Amino acid sequence: MSTQSFNPFHMAQSQFDKIAHMLELDSAVREFLRNPVREYQFLIPVRMDDGTVTVFRGFRVQHNDARGPSKGGIRFHPQETIDTVRALAMWMTWKCGVVDIPLGGGKGGVVCDPHNLSAREQEGICRGWVRQLSRNVGPYQDVPAPDVMTSAQHMLWMLDEYERIRGEKLPGFITGKPVGMGGSLGRTEATGFGVIFTVREALKELGIRPSDTTASVQGFGNVAQYAIRLYSQIGGTVTCVSCWDQKEQTSFAYRKKTGIDLDELLGITDRFGGIDKEKARDLGYEVLNGDEWISQEVDILIPAALENQVTGESVKKISGRVKVVAEGANGPTTPEADQELYNRNIFLIPDLLCNAGGVTCSYFEQVQSNMNYFWEKDEVLGKLDVKMTTAFLAVSDLAQRRKQNTRNAAYLIAVDRIARACRDRGWV
Ligand code: NAD
Repeated sequence: MSTQSFNPFHMAQSQFDKIAHMLELDSAVREFLRNPVREYQFLIPVRMDDGTVTVFRGFRVQHNDARGPSKGGIRFHPQETIDTVRALAMWMTWKCGVVDIPLGGGKGGVVCDPHNLSAREQEGICRGWVRQLSRNVGPYQDVPAPDVMTSAQHMLWMLDEYERIRGEKLPGFITGKPVGMGGSLGRTEATGFGVIFTVREALKELGIRPSDTTASVQGFGNVAQYAIRLYSQIGGTVTCVSCWDQKEQTSFAYRKKTGIDLDELLGITDRFGGIDKEKARDLGYEVLNGDEWISQEVDILIPAALENQVTGESVKKISGRVKVVAEGANGPTTPEADQELYNRNIFLIPDLLCNAGGVTCSYFEQVQSNMNYFWEKDEVLGKLDVKMTTAFLAVSDLAQRRKQNTRNAAYLIAVDRIARACRDRGWV
């Protein structure tokens, strides 16, 4: 058995090395960008409900802040490691770069399992995390956000602690706050809508009307639901959607060739996100094996659930009719499948561009919080459309000019922007 385990940071570095080579970056710039500029590892002692003290391990990595304050979520996870946080921080730098928002990349974490912690204990971790870092984070330094197993409530505890320490109201310190407490309207829709803004542009380039297209979606969570909603509004028809069934511990796909009805399916979805199979059948849906979302005879595939779904194996099941793959999820396609999609002339909208609507709207939240002036939802979504469309056109144009796949094009744009900012500041 191999003793070497998968290291996401090494993967992120080798992705970067490939792009650095294509951009002919000099060695100092490469050295600077393939590592985080700053990282913090610290201990958070928390008095537990039974009176004992547990010491938790916390992290914050600021990969690069040449274009603005670092931005990125805080994960609570029992298997959190510094290398996972480093990789995620680096990917945030590139994601902010490709959509051209004036932020850098960061990520944080705490090794803990919130399932085994009371609300009071979780509050203790949040406040302790901020106490350790209050000099190193802030609206103009590093702006955290929710991520795996952290929520708007965690963000509010962190904001409260930060404001207590600083002695002033600074709502731009953190994003993902509830609407009415400094959150932005449109954040719930942002990632799914952003996916469809890019799909709409891809179809325009291919000369296809959305109303002549069908789509199959993997996932039925936040990203998938809002992607389905906007895609239907622009005239498209989703014929298949898949999701995880908590009770049966497997996934199922729900197909209706005339088109699924989002609200009808939401009405038969339980609080764990699973769709009721019997009720779905009664409403005229075919219930299929979950993997079948990928083999549907549709024009567009939207993986919006998990990483590693379009693989060297599963890519072979993609129908000859598919013209666009839009990566709503992070990392759904393996490098082997990437190459196959490119060979088959399928238009790939890469994750770092396709799902960047979320971080773009977080940036809007930060701007609104710093001004203490909040925009209407239409204004937020209108600005989001402009950002996503502009980023899409830049990626697609570069891909054509440099005869590169769209993923490489997105990375080339992002890394080039960050490298220039570092050089222009005189850092490297
Ligand atoms: P979510 O938890 O709301 O939904 C996840 C969905 O995936 C659920 O419907 C679940 O049933 C489904 N799922 C899980 N396993 C599955 C399987 N094997 N087959 C089919 N469906 C399965 O999560 P989300 O916020 O919608 O995020 C989805 C993806 O998008 C993740 O990769 C996430 O990192 C990425 N993403 C999300 C955001 C955001 O703002 N929410 C932003 C950027 C990227």
